[in-house]
Amino acid sequence: MQPADDLILLRPEGLYCPAGDFHIDPWRPVARAVITHAHADHARRGHGAYLATAVSEGVLRARLGNIALQGLAYGEAAHLNGVRVSLHPAGHVLGSAQVRVEHRGRVWVASGDYFTSGHTHDTNATCAPFEPVRCDCFITESTFGLPIYRWRPQAEVMTAINAWWQANAAEGRASLLMGYSFGKAQRLLAGVDPAIGPIAVHGAVVPLNDAYRAAGVPLPPTQALEDLDAASLRGALVIAPPAVHGSAWTKRLGEHSDAFASGWMQLRGARRRQGVDRGFVLSDHADWPGLQRAIAATGASRVIVTHGYEAVMVRWLQQQGLQAGSFRTAFGQDDAEAAA
Ligand SMILES: [Zn+2]
Ligand SMILES: [Zn+2]
Repeated sequence: MQPADDLILLRPEGLYCPAGDFHIDPWRPVARAVITHAHADHARRGHGAYLATAVSEGVLRARLGNIALQGLAYGEAAHLNGVRVSLHPAGHVLGSAQVRVEHRGRVWVASGDYFTSGHTHDTNATCAPFEPVRCDCFITESTFGLPIYRWRPQAEVMTAINAWWQANAAEGRASLLMGYSFGKAQRLLAGVDPAIGPIAVHGAVVPLNDAYRAAGVPLPPTQALEDLDAASLRGALVIAPPAVHGSAWTKRLGEHSDAFASGWMQLRGARRRQGVDRGFVLSDHADWPGLQRAIAATGASRVIVTHGYEAVMVRWLQQQGLQAGSFRTAFGQDDAEAAA
């Protein structure tokens, strides 16, 4: 059911605000797109005009080239056709935002992807932390919207990654840590201990690291794999996208241990099925307690669930006495973590 006066509707081309005549993260080309973040399934080519956070400009241009982009600071407002639009931190990746839409006294928030967890103080160090925004209707993702998804404190995960790297280095083998090149790779870099040894990154990670550093996010020094001699490589941490797994590219690492960093590693058997030595549970999406906390903090009486476990989340929300429904979107399909 989509009441005709809803602020945001589902259309074949994506989420649409009829009053403001703009789309949010549309999957088909439109005239005006408000973009939550630069992951490929949310920020696509071919739109006439883009509105996004100013801090995401570097990563957006690294992926989409020379687009017509208007950048907003977090909290700054733009008026589209009389509708007030502002962007608020989502804690997911550099520049990620929730879109707050206000029209005639009603407020809707489309959150895109966001990170917050049951551990109140855990935030993503590589971007502005998630900020709850009060609204009447909250559109939420549900990538990890099942009660089994409960993240360990980040510090614990980073300690485990460092210990794995240290043990490999002590035994003279490289450590290949695979994670999505935009977002996960930088979060891993910000969390590991560079005192253990040299850090090398796959070429796909380099332009994203450049964009993060240009935006003022501190990352430890990294090198190209080619610049490491054989001896340094044996003590090195190598960060690469999951696509390298099982490819000829990994041969240049020589003897190495491999690992994935992903929320899916929490699933029993996921590491074994992927055929890697280690799985570290680290996600840039909210876990079940994080989703619950985020939704409650909005004060919304109505929630619309997108990409993930919509049915489970909708049932849970209805049990809480909220009005809940879902939108079938095209999000999650190109996101290595969401599509695993
Ligand atoms: Zn994303
Ligand atoms: Zn998403």
